[in-house]
Amino acid sequence: MNRRQFLKKGLLGGTALLATSGLGYAGMRFWPESGLNNPCLTGLPTELSQHPLMQKIWSEIDPSQVWDTHAHIIGAGESGSGVWYSPAMDSWRHPILKVQKDFYMNGGCIAEGHEDASFLARMLDLSATMPTGYKSMLFAFDWAHNTQGKPEKSRSIFHIPDSYAAAIARKHSQQFEWVASIHPYRADAIDALIRAKENGARAIKWLPSGMSIDPSSLKCDQFYQQLAQFDMPIISHTGRESAVQGGDQSYGNPLHMRRALDAGVRVVLAHCASDGHDEDLDNNKKPIKSFELFTRIMDTPAYAGLAFGEISAITLINHAWVIKPLLERTDWHPRLLNGSDYPLPGIVPLISTKQLHRAGLLEDSHLLFLTTLRDYNPLMFDFAVKRLIQLNGIGFKKEVFETRSFFDRTMTAKSPITH
Ligand SMILES: [Zn+2]
Repeated sequence: MNRRQFLKKGLLGGTALLATSGLGYAGMRFWPESGLNNPCLTGLPTELSQHPLMQKIWSEIDPSQVWDTHAHIIGAGESGSGVWYSPAMDSWRHPILKVQKDFYMNGGCIAEGHEDASFLARMLDLSATMPTGYKSMLFAFDWAHNTQGKPEKSRSIFHIPDSYAAAIARKHSQQFEWVASIHPYRADAIDALIRAKENGARAIKWLPSGMSIDPSSLKCDQFYQQLAQFDMPIISHTGRESAVQGGDQSYGNPLHMRRALDAGVRVVLAHCASDGHDEDLDNNKKPIKSFELFTRIMDTPAYAGLAFGEISAITLINHAWVIKPLLERTDWHPRLLNGSDYPLPGIVPLISTKQLHRAGLLEDSHLLFLTTLRDYNPLMFDFAVKRLIQLNGIGFKKEVFETRSFFDRTMTAKSPITH
């Protein structure tokens, strides 16, 4: 088994790691082997900050327009934040969840017992080395709910309250924006949406499988109407979900988002549905690549001003095949938005720059710069990889990274925050 097969098996769905790795917690370095572990270095040494590739990745970019459209908050609630995660993640009776949690902890450089505080401290450190004006859009994350709109803790993996995401963004307004997460079946969904809007939320985040949301349900209609009225976009996961286990994966079918689009809501299809298969609901539920259904949505003329693709996670080992088709569809580029899916870029084995090099997307001269950069700043690393990848001389243009105007139009004046 080579290293990549080993990792894929262990991290993305198997348990091969468990017998061999001796996972444990000795500070941050829970990996006995070198090269799999995020060393969580801080700052940027001059050999990186002065590197010609550093100039290249930021050339022509206006950092004040660069908003990372997909960043997760991690925590455990010790600060009184209300953050919760499933106890299954701490139990070896759920080995996949347990291993995933350890990876998230290392990816986000999070210290056990101080999860909320260390997550935020690391994010602020990373933000401090990004050019002034750059911001991360931090996601709240709602509970799974049943069809009656009641929260179901037992079916939830984690929960990040809107109030906490809003409070971080308010306190650190130079570094962060925030994205609310509201289950549309909730009896108070519209009130919560109005409150989120008043408190500066830039969008709504859904993970339909993990939250038990069927986006094609008529139970979403009122919520869609209100979103359309606010011109507030939904960022919804599409395609298979590997990072958050469980739930009904069919809810991530891109075609389900037509109901929102038909209601005039701007929809950001996360990851461009780059992983997995779905049923082709237009053709007798024939299995088809989720990306083909993403393509169908993007190519529907009526959705040209409403449907957008989001390119977070496309560099992950199991998504990276999608980079070439995305680069080839230059006509879509004005409708693509960049996001990091932080802390995933900090989870070292998930992204292989060698794989991207072998695919002809990165050059030899990029590799050392990128792997060194990752040790210091996974946010910058993710940005750099996506700025550098090219196919036949065509890369992602600056517009894909300058996402602010897409989200800014939801906000004319900030109302006072009342938490
Ligand atoms: Zn994500």
